[in-house]
Amino acid sequence: MSARVVSDTTSPRAVSGIPFERRLAIGFFVAASLCLLVGELFELPVAVTKLGFFLATGGVITGGVDATRALVRHLTGAHEAVAFSAPLVLDAANAKFVGSLAPLDEAAAAIERENAARLVDAVSLVHTILSAGFASGASDVHLTPEAGGLRVIARVDGVLHELGVIAPKHVNYVINRVKIAANLSIDVRLRPQDGRLGFEDPRYQVRVATLPTNHGEKVVMRLAMNDESRYVLENIGLDAPTLVKLKTMLERDHGVIFLTGPTGSGKTTTMYAAMRHLRDGQSRRLNLVTLEDPLEVDFVGMSQTEVNARAGLTFAAGLRSILRQDPDVIMLGEIRDEETAQTAIRAGLTGHLLLTSVHADSAVGVFQRMRQLHVDVVQLAGASIGVLNQRLAVRNCSRCVEEVEPSETLLESLRHLGLRAEGPFFEGRGCPECRGVGRKGRVPLIELLQVDSAMRELLVDDAPMHTIEAAAIEAGMRPLAEQALDLAREGVLPPSEVVRVLSF
Ligand SMILES: [Zn+2]
Repeated sequence: MSARVVSDTTSPRAVSGIPFERRLAIGFFVAASLCLLVGELFELPVAVTKLGFFLATGGVITGGVDATRALVRHLTGAHEAVAFSAPLVLDAANAKFVGSLAPLDEAAAAIERENAARLVDAVSLVHTILSAGFASGASDVHLTPEAGGLRVIARVDGVLHELGVIAPKHVNYVINRVKIAANLSIDVRLRPQDGRLGFEDPRYQVRVATLPTNHGEKVVMRLAMNDESRYVLENIGLDAPTLVKLKTMLERDHGVIFLTGPTGSGKTTTMYAAMRHLRDGQSRRLNLVTLEDPLEVDFVGMSQTEVNARAGLTFAAGLRSILRQDPDVIMLGEIRDEETAQTAIRAGLTGHLLLTSVHADSAVGVFQRMRQLHVDVVQLAGASIGVLNQRLAVRNCSRCVEEVEPSETLLESLRHLGLRAEGPFFEGRGCPECRGVGRKGRVPLIELLQVDSAMRELLVDDAPMHTIEAAAIEAGMRPLAEQALDLAREGVLPPSEVVRVLSF
């Protein structure tokens, strides 16, 4: 039996109008929440209409596919139910619908009666996975090929959650479906490709990257919301002193503000929020331009350009062209080569404010990196305004947090990072609020180094990094390790998260 969607609605009322014997439900997991798709099944050729999309929440028990199927049928009253395997199953007695989440334009699903691998329509499966990803706030969805099939994993609040496994016989359809939607060549399997996938709502953006592995192509889909209202400096989680210092740095009319931190540490969010602050918070109108790789969010009142190496538009070439267009503020996605580094520093010295990211493991490491890229130390000292070294940490769920005694291994890891491994320490135990995970939400940690005249002298003198670091701390920089440990003792961060964010 196969099924196809001919129209969509998402209201629970529409679903309740479907006769029991024609009601089809599909259940799958995102984080610890059970997502349900409900539709109406007609005679062959079969069509599913009145598709609804729901989240069920409740207490957590362990179980397998059969238990999940039974629960999906219980919740939806569906005659036919399909479920992905999942490590967590919700308690049927406590689970309930919490409402309609997302309209699904052409979601479709097909089932094979009494067959373990039931979802054969790759289009609907990919769409379903992405809809679920956006609904749960996932930043990435991984499709990882293994001997037993294609493992579907979502990253929510920085933590990986398994959604299910796609049976081996469907893997090629699913991978090809993603590649076609992202305008990638389906014939190319032996080299990496990257592209962008169209989603029905233009605010949703999905970047797709493929990589050949020993079991076939792995696909990672990065999910982003193209919605500039999300980028407000006051709302991105900075503590009050950091916010004040950053705003002061942004008042400068020329110079370079560096950001550093691993991928996924929120550098782009901070840069976007800073650009929006400059756009809205100034008495005079500024010519704001960006050069990005990739361009993630559209902003009103800024000229945004995406790097395109194939067309010769590299960071270096793009920056040269931007400087001929009379910019006031430039957001430069990344500095990773000598020419871009030197051009950026000169731009900072000649009347432009630059925000840029540099790959380094500490705030002071940015200066070392710039020296490696043969930037003149006098120019570096003259242009630098400050450095933000950023991490994004996952918080304990505030509802179920409790004091814990960390394992000796964890304490050893803390000591290894040079921290006093003294508690109290806290962990979320898991509750309905955090969907059983024990963690909810994220908090940025920012080590902010302001370049003052004393630090300029140290830079010009080519002082050792530890000397510069000591001077920065003397001048008020709170090291990341200290911030993370303080937050752990206050119950905000689990101790394992302290180790994770500091181990870069
Ligand atoms: Zn909780």
